[in-house]
Amino acid sequence: MSKNNDELFKNVIGHAKEYGFVFPSSEIYDGLSAVYDYGQLGAELKNNLKTYWWKSMVQMNENIVGLDSAIFMHPKIWKASGHVDGFADPMIDNKDSKKRYRADNLIEDKIAKYESEGKKEKAEILQQAMDAALTADDLSALKNLIEEHQIVCPVSGTRNWTDVRQFNLMFSTQMGAMAEGSDEVYLRPETAQGIFVNFLNVQKSGRMKIPFGIAQIGKAFRNEVIARQFIMRMREFEQMEMQFFVRPGTEMEWYKHWKETRLKWHLAIGTPENKYRFHDHVKLAHYANAAVDIEFEFPFGFKEVEGIHSRTDFDLSQHQKFSGKKMQYFDNDLNQEGKPYGNYIPYVIETSIGLDRLFLLTLCNAYEEEDLSSDERQDSRTVLHLHPALAPVKATVLPLTKKDGLPEKARQIMDKLKYDFNMQYDEKDSIGKRYRRQDAIGTPFCITVDHQSLEDDTVTIRHRDSMKQERVLTKDLKNIIGELVSWKNLLS
Ligand code: ATP
Repeated sequence: MSKNNDELFKNVIGHAKEYGFVFPSSEIYDGLSAVYDYGQLGAELKNNLKTYWWKSMVQMNENIVGLDSAIFMHPKIWKASGHVDGFADPMIDNKDSKKRYRADNLIEDKIAKYESEGKKEKAEILQQAMDAALTADDLSALKNLIEEHQIVCPVSGTRNWTDVRQFNLMFSTQMGAMAEGSDEVYLRPETAQGIFVNFLNVQKSGRMKIPFGIAQIGKAFRNEVIARQFIMRMREFEQMEMQFFVRPGTEMEWYKHWKETRLKWHLAIGTPENKYRFHDHVKLAHYANAAVDIEFEFPFGFKEVEGIHSRTDFDLSQHQKFSGKKMQYFDNDLNQEGKPYGNYIPYVIETSIGLDRLFLLTLCNAYEEEDLSSDERQDSRTVLHLHPALAPVKATVLPLTKKDGLPEKARQIMDKLKYDFNMQYDEKDSIGKRYRRQDAIGTPFCITVDHQSLEDDTVTIRHRDSMKQERVLTKDLKNIIGELVSWKNLLS
């Protein structure tokens, strides 16, 4: 990360804490590694991001429905899905610093270093060698790469490494007394399995016809080897996943469809297109026949935000095998088309986005330290250019002064609008300072009540990005704000 980007990222993290977006968890006890709490504004922004996803997936698509499955699930599910045996990362310890790393992350950092030094060829060769080692699950090849490229521990600066070992990422805990004897259960490492095991429940009770999707938002837990980059890699995080069930043989069409649809969804927030790229997986997960990441350019480089995976019929077939229950779908249309069979296990296209990474992306993208200096004076402001539909506070009502009945008038306006929008009221400090405070939290509109308001029932609306003001009738406020913060602007 260059110094500028490094500084920018530190400022974003500082800003998130200072204004109540994100706090380190258990901070008064010195924190808990890779766990974070969302503050008063963070909770609002997070809810808005969820709403955006849910509306676009569930409400906008007649053939996609929602689900809210439990975090605890029968432990056999994780055996069937392959997580008990295969959900592991390659880790390596430095014997001097006693720090643990993901071997592939250390190598990725070296690749980035080569790139930043203009050593393109070296970077490419190392990338290919790492991909080959990961594809073959060859742990000693990873260790060799670390040695060959003289990768040192960022903390101790030494090359005194252990061997590379696999480390399972699932958290487990004990649950009551289970009939079969074993009482070990896992905290789900992904929300997807809750969808798979409910596939027939939803299909039958909702009379769903293929192709159809099931969407869910919920917590997932992974005992990540190393926590990095703020809320980018957490041990407790939230996923928004959708499994789309299709006829076998049609999966590549749908894979393409969801790849395009999901990128459009990202761009609608107002993020520049050149900040995104697709990254095709070389090493496919055990369940996939195609997979791509949507990557975003964070201040620390391009990183995965969302995965689109063609999961074949792997998960449903495994659950059929492990549960002994049929997971087949009867395709009446197929029978009517005169095809010889109507029963099959559907194929699945998955879209899986991390809510916390989306949150970080949104914050990084919105954050600007804007220089407003003119010939006469130096000035600057920090502003979050959030899409109005996503902004935590939609509008703030500000009486110009604390006297002459202005606060009362401002309160009346606030009381009318608060049923429709998340509002704030602020009468402390100069009007300029109050505007800056709202800019810093991304409030798109400031409504100022002045003496003229008492005479003709008008107020000024100040627009966050342009800082332009216009005078409008109080009775029109609801429509004006409603139009500008409408979900329609994001969804259509
Ligand atoms: P990575 O390679 O970065 O570990 P992954 O490929 O394991 O991610 P998936 O299993 O595809 O991730 O999960 C889907 C999405 O969940 C990711 O695109 C990411 O946005 C999010 N996600 C995964 N792990 C974490 C984590 N530890 N913290 C925050 N979000 C995560």
